[in-house]
Amino acid sequence: MQRVTVLGATGSIGVQTLEVLALHPERYQVFALAAFTKWQPLAELCLKHRPRYAVLRDAAAAALLRNHLRELGSQTEVLEGDRALEQVAESVETDVVVAAIVGAAGIRPTLAAVRAGKRILLANKEALVVTGKLFMDAVRQHGAELIPLDSEHNAIFQCLPESGRSLNGVRRLLLTASGGPFRNHSAESLQQVTVAEALKHPNWDMGPKISVDSATLMNKGLELIEASWLFALDESRIDVVVHPQSVVHSMVEYEDGSVLAQLGTPDMRTPIACGLAWPQRIASGAPRIDFLALSQLTFEAPDLERFPCLHLAREALRAGGAASAVLNAANEVAVQAFLDQKLSFMGIAACVDDALQHCGAVACRSLEEIFDADRISRAHAGDWISRHGGVVH
Ligand code: NAD
Ligand code: MG
Repeated sequence: MQRVTVLGATGSIGVQTLEVLALHPERYQVFALAAFTKWQPLAELCLKHRPRYAVLRDAAAAALLRNHLRELGSQTEVLEGDRALEQVAESVETDVVVAAIVGAAGIRPTLAAVRAGKRILLANKEALVVTGKLFMDAVRQHGAELIPLDSEHNAIFQCLPESGRSLNGVRRLLLTASGGPFRNHSAESLQQVTVAEALKHPNWDMGPKISVDSATLMNKGLELIEASWLFALDESRIDVVVHPQSVVHSMVEYEDGSVLAQLGTPDMRTPIACGLAWPQRIASGAPRIDFLALSQLTFEAPDLERFPCLHLAREALRAGGAASAVLNAANEVAVQAFLDQKLSFMGIAACVDDALQHCGAVACRSLEEIFDADRISRAHAGDWISRHGGVVH
């Protein structure tokens, strides 16, 4: 029996993880469910999955959840605050930690799971993008088992020799990108797009932050950085190819010309089930590909002029140091400003570009220095938006 902690349990990945776990009650038991502030959805999940602990970062919300669960006779104990998130992630009573908090907010609890040597199913790409080498060094040092849930990286994990432990004969990785909802928009019309349009992803149903990142292609930029750290490959050996159908989830090209790809319907329950059971295979509940119904699979190059975020991310990865942390922090601030209608869609790339130019060179040898870079970049981006924002659609 594997005991599972889900960080970010109320989100898109968290809920889909619980759907997969519920298919296999003989294999998995839910140890802890953690979320940010929304106590009602967490209450429902607790009543259904009966975890030992529920954690809310927000203390007031935790008090409401505690009263509610007590009244209903639930045995789940409610904890609160930052430290509690780390405690459930590193507990000796948990075997698997699903890291599905969005943004740099997930760094500390995810690192706590790494340092406790858990099997970590990583969805929270920002945690790895920001901490990079420090994260991967900790994985090795503490014998943690890191399995990527991001569909592209999970695909590559499945296609590499020895599930990524070897790069024997590997020439390059091909990360596929759907191109997002604005793939065919002109540069001019991208100036006018709305929040509702950005949130309408053609293939995947995801949380708001990653949906906007998919529309700007920053998601693919973050994934490029993620892939470089996960698989220890230089950025020059990772290419991005736009594949609007999202059936080929990514590919590995070998020296002899062979290309291995992982295919599936665009449903995160497949990589989640893969990560939970690996190296075994279990049912995920995802629909299967009907090859006869697939009309065509197409591939095209990404347009870095209309989608500069992908280029900015590659530049940040090349620059090294704190650049990826700065890129991520400015992007988090800019995406939130866009969602709040305080910044235009194209303003996101402009804001990140400015932060990289002004804060990209700060040091980052320790976690403290990384968090400093994150703070400096957030402040810079906030200032930039107050000077250049205000373009509301
Ligand atoms: P979401 O917005 O749907 O859910 C985010 C979860 O994180 C929620 O449970 C929320 O309560 C929690 N959370 C947010 N801020 C927090 C904080 N400060 N402290 C504690 N908890 C906090 O997001 P999502 O779409 O599920 O994405 C989660 C992560 O997985 C992201 O890093 C995203 O890039 C990655 N990812 C998601 C998908 C997808 O299909 N949704 C695919 C690949 C990767
Ligand atoms: Mg992805």
